[in-house]
Amino acid sequence: MTQIGEGIAIALINLEKGKCVFCGKSEHEFPKKDVIKPTGWSRKKISGVGGRFASAKLDIYPDKKSPPTAYKSEGHHCLAFSSFIMGAQSNPPNPTDRFAALNHYLKEKKYDPNNINNVIDLPGRKDKGDEDPDAHYAEFAIAVDNDKPLQLHIGGHAAEFMNASNVLLRDIVRTIQQGGFCDEPDDSFKDLLVEEVEIAEDEAFKSTAGVITPWICHPAHINKAEEFAKEMLDRTDEIIYPKL
Ligand SMILES: [Zn+2]
Repeated sequence: MTQIGEGIAIALINLEKGKCVFCGKSEHEFPKKDVIKPTGWSRKKISGVGGRFASAKLDIYPDKKSPPTAYKSEGHHCLAFSSFIMGAQSNPPNPTDRFAALNHYLKEKKYDPNNINNVIDLPGRKDKGDEDPDAHYAEFAIAVDNDKPLQLHIGGHAAEFMNASNVLLRDIVRTIQQGGFCDEPDDSFKDLLVEEVEIAEDEAFKSTAGVITPWICHPAHINKAEEFAKEMLDRTDEIIYPKL
């Protein structure tokens, strides 16, 4: 169960004081008065691309198969799951909604961070027990060999990448707050939140597929992986990632 985090505590205080629970302003004509609740979202095992621009997404895999059969892949959240829920992987787990009001309204609108639009399959890590340090690059090299290169996914992501994902969501919250969209008499700002998050998902998908900085899970490994693949495949040409 998700814990009551700071965001929810602040929303409760705002509610008691008659302030808008989404932006905390007191001068709204139509302050939002919802009781912000924890989403309880949990990380799910994800794989397989689809949804918006599905055909272009499938085209980045050998024979348009997702999850790919040509190499071993791992499902990756385009917008990091931890951008929605913090502390899910801590020990002991202490899951907390990062942007509580955003998450609350997204959930109300049936959004889920594990949805198919937020998934990309990436070449996976080495088998457990494999001592060869280069074994992490084997699946990546198979993807390159199939002329469908994608960045590797070997566990533990760079801080810059996680931060990029957090910032996208934070900016959505700020845009809606500063634009005063939560002061409309109706609930239109909720649809706007979903729309903006969907745009962010698509941006994250394209940037991850294209290996565009800072959307690189393992910047310390990508060059080594490329060198390994070129040597293994006896290639010298530049590895070109998909542009969507
Ligand atoms: Zn407001």
